[in-house]
Amino acid sequence: IFLPHLVASLEVEQSYIMIKPDGVQRGLVGEIISRFEKKGFKLTGLKLFQCPQELAEEHYKDLQSKPFFPKLIQYITSGPVVCMAWEGVGVVASARKLIGATNPLQAEPGTIRGDLAVQTGRNVIHGSDSPENGKREIGNLCCIL
Ligand code: GDP
Ligand code: MG
Repeated sequence: IFLPHLVASLEVEQSYIMIKPDGVQRGLVGEIISRFEKKGFKLTGLKLFQCPQELAEEHYKDLQSKPFFPKLIQYITSGPVVCMAWEGVGVVASARKLIGATNPLQAEPGTIRGDLAVQTGRNVIHGSDSPENGKREIGNLCCIL
């Protein structure tokens, strides 16, 4: 069976990668950037940023109706985040693999969440789920497009 959503795109694309406040506070910025560099992707945007509430709500607007939404916004705005744009062939799907499952207890060892996190509500990192969202999120939060 052909499962297109599981196949990394062959296009050069960009993913918005964000180290969440817990990752910054725990001193994991270097470790996380290093994993993307070693994989072979190109860093094309980077900033340390205190995300205002409205922008956090816009970023996670698809999750607005979830019971954990207020907690999520509180988490993301609780301290500085590192906003990054990473470029490369298939970077969106590949970054999701490097990052691992949303719940760190289900994330495989070797992934960022599998190695460095325990709780879904403190899962260290965000990665775009499609090239379209990558573009949109970089435009909203990294300002380099
Ligand atoms: P992701 O794409 O793997 O980051 O996961 P989603 O897009 O589904 O959710 C976005 C973020 O919301 C996750 O990374 C978590 O930080 C948070 N989140 C998702 N589900 C839950 C949950 O059940 N409880 C809590 N507290 N946070 C959640
Ligand atoms: Mg998501």
